Order: sequence, then structure tokens, then C-alpha cells
Amino acid sequence: MATLSQQIVDKKFYRRQKTGKIKCLLCRHYCELSEGQTGVCGVNKNEGGKLINLVYGKVAALNIDPIEKKPLYHFLPGTTALSLGTVGCNMQCDFCQNWQISQEKTILQKDFISPEQIVNLAVKYKSQTIAYTYNEPTVFYPYVRDIALSAQKKGLKNIMVTNGIESEEVLNDMKGIIDAVNVDFKAFDENYYKKELKAPFTVRESLQSMKNNGIWVEVTTLIIPGINDDERQLKQIADFIVNKLGSDTPWHISAFHPDYKMKDKQATPYETIEKAYQTGIKAGLKFVYIGNVLRLKNITYCPVCHKILIERIGYQILNKHIVKGKCAYCNTKIPGIWN
Ligand code: SF4
Repeated sequence: MATLSQQIVDKKFYRRQKTGKIKCLLCRHYCELSEGQTGVCGVNKNEGGKLINLVYGKVAALNIDPIEKKPLYHFLPGTTALSLGTVGCNMQCDFCQNWQISQEKTILQKDFISPEQIVNLAVKYKSQTIAYTYNEPTVFYPYVRDIALSAQKKGLKNIMVTNGIESEEVLNDMKGIIDAVNVDFKAFDENYYKKELKAPFTVRESLQSMKNNGIWVEVTTLIIPGINDDERQLKQIADFIVNKLGSDTPWHISAFHPDYKMKDKQATPYETIEKAYQTGIKAGLKFVYIGNVLRLKNITYCPVCHKILIERIGYQILNKHIVKGKCAYCNTKIPGIWN
């Protein structure tokens, strides 16, 4: 299969080593690749001493989603995001809910969708945002970057839903290109990341870098019974968010449902979710939300006058009382990017 010129990754995202290998700089695995070798993600390859992003333009999933589905609750509520992903991932989570594409290594060769075509689709379907999601966007960052720069010219925003193991090079590059992120903070346990997810525990550094680079940050933790549902660990995550990202940072606590290689585990009981919610509130977080629980209302309260600002059910906004980014009742500025 011939290599498309667009698939050749910009030299700032790989480096030739003295050993003759090339080092991929797209994520913290920093894979060193011999000629013809593909990295952990299965989609970045050394071909003739160049890094080739095999999934550039090869979209495996494309939908128009409510922004609330990412989830982003403090970012243009009630709007939609043209959402896309490819195959490939740099983690191997047994509970992945998108495993059909994230753990797939076969790349569809027939349809190439250019960055401009993606942007035109977003404009056509009136999405104000393009979301890089479903699988880990870091592994297809060269495509993300080209779409995002093209989208900016049309006044669109760009968001990434990510596991937080971007390389420093990608994190620095995201500044001014990516407007918002939802980052999975899967556990406060380095061993768990290494053994179970086969990945480095760099989510804390990534979150701080994103925050410092002016990107709007929301955090999600999927609570899995017996894995990360102990109060100590949840408190460590909540404390990290409060101390390093700020108490204004939304934290989404998400209920686990058996999937992929974890079909034998029970779904997260509601009492566990409620406990995690209280842990976040006690730690000082002002905006804690519960996800994956059917028919549960998720409410944003004004942190000063405590009136209801946004009431949601599922992905739907029932009412909104934020005007020009401020509480409609007491005029307090509410953190986020508002429409
Ligand atoms: S994106 Fe990450 S996992 Fe994939 S080749 Fe590059 S460093 Fe390795």
C-alpha cells in the first residue's frame, strides 16, 4: 500500500536515534522503532526512516454528538460536536467501552477524508466544535492538528477526549490549537497504570500542562468496583484536582458497566457513586457530576448563591441560567467557556 504524503508525520514529532531507529514523540511510550516496526498503538510506523501515521484520514467512527456526551459540562452547553476517531490506542484497558475501534489494528484503506472535508461536515451540520474522541487522539495527533488548524479558520473550536499520556511535545503543541479537553484520570496508582493499562502514570503532569496552556479542562473517573472505588484513592484524585488544577475544575464520576474483557465485574452500585460524589464535594470541588446513571439529573449550582444554573437529564439541557458566563441571579462569573 502506497504511503500518502499526508501520512508522513512532521519531523517535530519524531527523532532519528544513533542506533538507526526512530523515536516517536507522539505519546509517553516514546516507542523506538526499527525499520518497518509499528509502535504500541499499532498505527504509527517507521517506514524508510520516517514516521508514518497510518490512520491519517482513515476515520473509523464519525458522529454528531451533544457536547454533554464527551462529557464537557462547562463548554458551550447544548451545542453539538462533530466527533471522530480512528483505530488504535496507546492503552489496553480491559474495560474499554470503545474497544471495537481502540483495540483494532486493521486500517481501512479505501476512504480518505481530508481535514478540510471534516471541517466542511462540521459546518454543514452546524456543529460549533470538532471532537477527537472514541479512541486516543494522541495516536492520530498529526491528523487532529491539521483538522484543528483548518477548523479554527472557520471559527470552530476543537476538543480532545484523552487518557492523558500525551508526550511533552504534543502537550506543548496543543497550546492555542485545542480549546478544551476531557481527561480520564483512571486511578491514583502507578502500578495499576503499568500493569493493567500498560501505560505510564503521567496523567497528572499532562493535566497541569494543559491547564497551564490555557486549555479548558474537565476530568472524568470511571469508578470500577474493586479497582478504584476505595475512598483513599478517590480522595487522592479529588485532592489533586483541587490543589493542582483548582476547585473550579469539573469532575465527572462515571458508573462502570460490564464490557469488553470485564464482563464478569458488577456494574458500579449507586451508593458507591454517591460516596465518590461526596468525596469530591468534601475535598472542595465546586462542580462534581455523575455520569452513566440513567434518568439522573445533573445540576450545576452557582457556587455563591447556590441557585440552579443548568439542569440536565442525560445529554439534554432542561434549562440554563448563565448569561454571558455569569450567574443570572447573582452575577458571579462561572468558570467555563459559555455560549
Ligand atoms: S503514538 Fe505512542 S504508542 Fe504509538 S508509536 Fe508513538 S509513542 Fe508509540
